Amino acid sequence: MSSSETSTPSNFIRHIIDDDITAGKNGGKVVTRFPPEPNGYLHIGHAKSICLNFGVAEDYQGRCNLRFDDTNPHKENIEFVESIQKDVRWLGFEWGEQHYYASDYFEKLYEFAVELIKVGKAYVCDQNAEEMREYRGNLKEPGRESPYRDRTVDESLDLFVRMRAGEFEDGSKVLRAKIDMASPNMNMRDPTLYRIRHGVVHHQTGSEWCLYPMYDYTHPISDALEGITHSLCTLEFEDHRPLYDWVLDNISIECHPQQIEFSRLNLQYCVMSKRKLTQLVDEGFVEGWDDPRMPTIAGMRRRGFTPISIRDFCDRIGITKSDNSVEMGVLESCIRDDLNTNAERRMAVLHPLKVVIENLAEGQEEQMEAANHPQNEAKGSRKIPFTRELYIDRNDFLEVAPNKKFKRLVTGGEVRLRNAYVIRCDEVIKDDAGEIIELRCSYDPDTLGANPEGRKVKGVIHWVSATHGVPAEIRLYDRLFSHPTPDSSKEEGKSFTDYLNADSLRTLTHCYVEPSLAESEAGVPVQFEREGYYCLDTQQSANGGLVFNRTVTLRDSWAKIEGQGR
Ligand code: ATP
Ligand code: MG
Repeated sequence: MSSSETSTPSNFIRHIIDDDITAGKNGGKVVTRFPPEPNGYLHIGHAKSICLNFGVAEDYQGRCNLRFDDTNPHKENIEFVESIQKDVRWLGFEWGEQHYYASDYFEKLYEFAVELIKVGKAYVCDQNAEEMREYRGNLKEPGRESPYRDRTVDESLDLFVRMRAGEFEDGSKVLRAKIDMASPNMNMRDPTLYRIRHGVVHHQTGSEWCLYPMYDYTHPISDALEGITHSLCTLEFEDHRPLYDWVLDNISIECHPQQIEFSRLNLQYCVMSKRKLTQLVDEGFVEGWDDPRMPTIAGMRRRGFTPISIRDFCDRIGITKSDNSVEMGVLESCIRDDLNTNAERRMAVLHPLKVVIENLAEGQEEQMEAANHPQNEAKGSRKIPFTRELYIDRNDFLEVAPNKKFKRLVTGGEVRLRNAYVIRCDEVIKDDAGEIIELRCSYDPDTLGANPEGRKVKGVIHWVSATHGVPAEIRLYDRLFSHPTPDSSKEEGKSFTDYLNADSLRTLTHCYVEPSLAESEAGVPVQFEREGYYCLDTQQSANGGLVFNRTVTLRDSWAKIEGQGR
């Protein structure tokens, strides 16, 4: 199948693949890989790469390998390995048997390094980090050759074997490629291929190695060993491509994948670098990697985002070579579109105000039938108890209507309770401080599914039975940062954490949700009618009660936030 026959929009990478297939390159096969480093949780930027790599493989009947790029053991761990697998699966992709670690290839990588030394293309260098930096030159000046560059092959070989055996201290020696210290491309100025790291336990290889290969050396060889055809990576690796090719051109390996770069996803009001996300977690700015404000897949799942919405988002933003920053509104509109069609409707009162229906006897109750989705009968219906004591939202009542547009309840006025009857407010009860604490109302028993006689009631409000409603805590999330690009603000002396939004989490502790929500499944969003989309959190509140997270508001509130606040 060519990409034009799938629903995924085509892009320049798919065009390259189409041309390769036409030309019979790689025997017409397509093999990609997703190569995360297990040093953090996956974020929405990774989802872009996952959708691209797995999506291309799926559409061209190829395969996509999951490969952990685990060459940096002191930052990596098994929790991250497991979370990455869970998140890729949750997004709806499967790698089957194709599950690898770069560390699977440590022995082979070592043998290829020996091969490079033997043909005079790599040498052991004793310069320390400081000296290497000094000798490297800069974009204007060529580098200078290391005094160890002309070591004999035998001497480098002997030292390299002893580096592996653990004879030398961290930082005292490295293995370098012998390329060109005058190259205009800094990556080609005799880059480091191997470094010594004692005393770290690798999550896969334990204490077997004290010699670890660098990413730029490991990646092309891992790709080639797995028979990858198209090695898709982000633009910052464009300058590394000559090194990728150099490595494969100088060792005895047949396969030579093509590296193709595309632009990273940046999302406004977010940071996406794992180093910065790690800092937010480690320094307690957020609750953890799965904090619902985080742009991580785990955070978004807990917040109520669905795999469909994230995949739709990746389709909408597309794959290009130009760097840009995507507006949060694009992501929100993807989740809103999905949930508008697929989420069931429920009722919840966020700011409860008690209503007593005086013409309904104590203990008298009626089961209302409520449709789970207004446009989709197949979603069925549920029962909601209508009782003498109810809650409505404080914002749905005013003693006096401020203007004609106010369609909600006022003293002496009428309003329809959603899925139930029309009620009239007969009396307002206040406490000593003058605060409204209760409304005394009456209901019109002839108005179930019918208009009242002789008068029009336009407003419809949501409600929850005070007797059967379930107390809940509701968490309202806002953007995590108050600056659209917290990473790259031009203000001097400011760090990205200075732009954290102090109001990114607002907690409402005294809410009521309709009884059916006690059975909710964590992470599965419903629409709280007139309020937004919400899902049950994975954890209980401090007092053991239900917690709901706001996934997204009903309408785009991002368009108007600039300068206006919310
Ligand atoms: P970070 O800069 O967040 O640490 P990384 O590139 O070091 O990201 P990896 O675990 O190495 O993280 O990424 C795995 C794959 O995901 C890589 O191929 C990388 O190019 C891709 N990727 C990472 N971030 C993004 C992004 N923001 N947009 C698109 N692809 C990304
Ligand atoms: Mg990386």
